[in-house]
This record gives sequence, C-alpha cells and structure tokens, in this order.
Amino acid sequence: MGDKRYRELKDYKAAGTNAGKVSIVGAGPGDPELITVKALRRLEEADLLLYDRLVNRKLLDYAKPEAVKIYCGKAPGRHTLPQEQIQALMVQHALSGKHVVRLKGGDPLVFGRGGEEALAMAKAGISYEIIPGITSALGAAASGAIPLTHRGISASCAFVTGSRCGSGQRQVRWDLLAGAVDTLVIYMGVGELAALCGEMLRSGKAPDTPAAIIERGTTAKQRILTGRLDQLDKLAVSMQAENPALIVIGEVVRVRSELLELEARMMEQTSSA
Ligand code: SAH
Repeated sequence: MGDKRYRELKDYKAAGTNAGKVSIVGAGPGDPELITVKALRRLEEADLLLYDRLVNRKLLDYAKPEAVKIYCGKAPGRHTLPQEQIQALMVQHALSGKHVVRLKGGDPLVFGRGGEEALAMAKAGISYEIIPGITSALGAAASGAIPLTHRGISASCAFVTGSRCGSGQRQVRWDLLAGAVDTLVIYMGVGELAALCGEMLRSGKAPDTPAAIIERGTTAKQRILTGRLDQLDKLAVSMQAENPALIVIGEVVRVRSELLELEARMMEQTSSA
C-alpha cells in the first residue's frame, strides 16, 4: 500500500486538489453519554464513518444523514474487514477529499490498534488526528465503584491483555506483574480466565485476592461478578460471563463491597425511618 499510495497523494496534491483528513476517535466505553465533546463534533462533521463492534450504535445518529457508515467490527476470532483493508479504505477516502472518522470503542490507543492506523496514515502522507476516549477500564471502574488506586491499598495499576492469540503479540509477564502491580485490569481475558488466574496464582498472588468481572460496563446491561482469584474461573462459567468484559484483580475490589454495604445500610435506615 505505502509507496504507491504516497505517490498517488503527491500527484493528487500536485493537481491542486484538497486532500481530506482522518480523525481516529475514541467513542467511550459503551454509555453513549461518555463521549467527549470533541469526538462528537468530529462525528457530526464526518463524510465517512468507519465504526467498530463496541461502539454504541446510538452515536451513529449524530452523523450527517448523507454520511456513509461502514461497519468494521471484529468479533473475537472473526474479522469482518481485515485491518489492512480498513486502513486502505481510510487512505482511499481521505485522498478523495473526504473527512474520514474512524470511530473505535473506548480509547483508540488502548488495545485499539489506533497506533497502527496512525502509522498507516503518516506513511501515506495523510493528515490525521487522534481524539482520546474513556477507555473501558476507566468507565467500568467508575460504574462498578471499584477505584483503580486507593490510598493504603493500591498505589499502582496496569492495563494488560488476556488475549494470547495473534502472531506478533508480545507476551504479558504475569510473573513480574503479580508482584509489582497492585491493581490489574485485564482486557480480552474472559475466554482465557482459567489460564490467566492460574498464571497469577503460580506467580505468587494470594488465592483470596479479591477480583471482579465487569460485563458490558457503563451500559444498561452491565453485570458485575465478584469473587476470590482462585475461584474466579468457576464463577465465570457458572454465571456465563460473556464479552465484552474486563477482569479487575486486586484489593481495591473490597472497596466496592464496602460501598455496597454502606448503601444497603442507608436504604435500610431510610425505609425503617
Ligand atoms: N479500545 C478499547 C478496548 C478494545 S479491546 C478501550 O479502550 O476500551 C476489547 C476489550 O475491551 C473487550 O474484550 C473487553 O475486555 C474490553 N471492553 C470494551 N468495552 C467494554 C465494556 N463496555 N465493558 C467491559 N469491557 C469492555
């Protein structure tokens, strides 16, 4: 793609035509209200909208009626449009003068391949920008009342992938993470939960470390399961945990239980008053 398209772009510029531009935009974690003002403006301006599976469809209503919308979603293990083809579409339409908005779930630069897309645009000489979004870890932590850091409990937090598929994927150093980081948030991990929990336990995490699975965080269908690290995989199976879901491992999960208890006590008091 690179060299040929770059030549095309130079010819295009020489012809005096205005090239379009590409906005790589984070749509937020699921709740359509959790998108930034800037991202929403780009949605309204887009001529072509390339959107992912985890983008809330209600956001598409903000596009102009004449905007072309193309679904580029990838279900785990199943790719509708290969990444190279998505990037080629972005280049092709930007070259024809369009404002292309590449709308991605959460934040484009957190397990979102936004970096690859930016590189592809840069190589093709296309003007692009990256607009951040609330990544699902932050959205789900807030709606699940699980602080990611908490004074006296957690001074560090890491976002890691639980997915081991895909060639060229760097391996997560579970052995080092288990001892070094207080709160772990695992993306794309529910399918591999038994193996992941095994890694953590073998690396020295205490079996009774509290953990949570947050399914469809920030949406009306949000579900949160909590349990001990050594029982999390069984819990996930019995409760049929499904994607999209995040796994949070760390003492911070106890803060959620404390908040829920306080809330329940308050409800009791108000109902008996
Ligand atoms: N760029 C995205 C992540 C894409 S990877 C972001 O910043 O959030 C896809 C993974 O994100 C899913 O497998 C799941 O682990 C997580 N995810 C995305 N949306 C989610 C949601 N609403 N609730 C829980 N997990 C979610």
